[in-house]
Order: sequence, then C-alpha cells, then structure tokens
Amino acid sequence: MILKQFRTFGLFGAAFIVTFMLSWFGGSDGVLGGQAHANTHCDPANLPNYQPSSADDEMDRFYALMAYAVVYKRWQDSSPSDGAAGYNIGSVMANESNQFVCWACNSVGATHNSTQHGEVRLMTNYLNQEALNNPSTEGEFHLQGYKIYTTLQPCAMCSGMMTLTNLEATIYGQTDPSYGGALGRLQYNSSQDPGGYCPYPRGVYHQLADVKVASILDDMYANWSKTNGTDITQFLTTPQVQALYEEATNQFMAFEAGFAENTQLVAYAKQIYSDIPDGYVPTPYGVACDLTQ
Ligand SMILES: [Zn+2]
Repeated sequence: MILKQFRTFGLFGAAFIVTFMLSWFGGSDGVLGGQAHANTHCDPANLPNYQPSSADDEMDRFYALMAYAVVYKRWQDSSPSDGAAGYNIGSVMANESNQFVCWACNSVGATHNSTQHGEVRLMTNYLNQEALNNPSTEGEFHLQGYKIYTTLQPCAMCSGMMTLTNLEATIYGQTDPSYGGALGRLQYNSSQDPGGYCPYPRGVYHQLADVKVASILDDMYANWSKTNGTDITQFLTTPQVQALYEEATNQFMAFEAGFAENTQLVAYAKQIYSDIPDGYVPTPYGVACDLTQ
C-alpha cells in the first residue's frame, strides 16, 4: 500500500519536477525561453553598443573610402579560378583611437586557401604581429574597441571571427544579399520561437558605410544581377565597378578632416596608402598585416 502510494507520488512527482524545470529553463512559457518573458532574460550586454561621436562618424566615412582605395590599387581583372590573387574585396582596421593599424585584401587565389578573406587576414595577421612584438603583454589578444572597414558585407566566417575577438564595429561598403547578414543573424533574438535563441554574445555593430559609393554599388548590383545572376564576386570584376572604385579612391585622396582631432589620423592613413605597392604583391601569411615589407 505504501509502496503503491509512493509509486503514484513518484510518477506525478517526477512529472511535476520535469514540468517545473522545463518552465524554468526554457519551456514554452518558461523564464529562459518563453513568450511571457521572452526579452527579459536575454542579456542586453550581448548586443553591440557602438555610439560614435561626430568625429568618429567622419573617420568611419574616411576609412570606408580607404577600403575601396586599397582594393582599387590592387585591382584584379579576373577571378581566382582564372589565376587572380583574390577577389576584389579588401579591408582596413583602426584601433580604439581611430588610428589606422592594418589593411589586407582577399588573397584566396595567391594562397590557395579559401579562408584568406581580407577580414580574416586583418585579424589574424594583426594579432599574430602583436603577439610577436609584445610576447609578455597580457590582454592583447582581442580587438576590443577596434573597427574594421570592409568593401563587402562580411560573410559568416569573418563575422564569427569578429564576434569572438570582441571587435567593436564593422562598416561595409556594399551589401551582400547572399553571404552577408551573418552578424544580424547572430544578433537576432528568436527566443520567442520554439527552440529559438537569445542573441549570441559579444555583438559587433555593423552598418552600410555612410558614403554615396556604397548606395550606388547596391543599386548597381541589383540592376546587374537581373541579367547576370547573383555572383557578386564576378560583378566586382566589371569595368563599371572598377570605375566607381576609382572615384572612391579620388574621394579618399581628396578627403580633408573637418575635426581637428582627425587631421593627423587622416594624414597618417594617406601616408600608409601611398606606400602600398600597385598590383598584388603576395605577403606571407601571418606577417605584418599585408603592409609593405
Ligand atoms: Zn569573409
């Protein structure tokens, strides 16, 4: 009798406990995953918190133009499958003081390595360089406060690396309707959906560059793809895009800082740019941010 009562309690008790645990840890209406409290438990600190000043905005526009200019200087007329060093995609990086630190171009052809996107090379080469130069420095293995300016919206691989290195922000020079949007997906709050997720930690701010060339490129690609398909890297080898990148390069070269604190930053970045060789010069993996040797 006692045993039977215990069994009955055991079954109901177990069911009660399971129900309670589900409701607490993420059941259909639970504290961690439910509709009633969907947005109360996702840590807001996981979302990006980039709040640029007007002077920061100016440097964001300047470095966005510089990214186009870097690609233009090493323009590839064909794709890597036809012998090109890489796709016409490139990136520059600035530190928390808005000072230029690094540039890199997509080099998947030259390295025969499909991971060698411009942003990957920026991050790995810069961090390798920092580790070599400062072997005893602690805490220099992340990119907190740094920003990457890249000519095409980052892919999932680069977005993942940006996220895990704690990058502050990325500003991109063209939307990629196919492979872009990865950072937005990581930050998307689907916790209200069955089996959904809170935003991934260490959100990276991401936005289309506030320069005319960026919106022109988006419109140009939308028109081009109507008759040429959706290969955006092929689009990036066309003469019309090259001409637009030349225009962006001219805007970069003519750029004058409106904020006094940006004057030296602009001059320094232009000096670096002038040292970049014309055409593609292979740089060994892990060495000096694709800077000239
Ligand atoms: Zn990428």
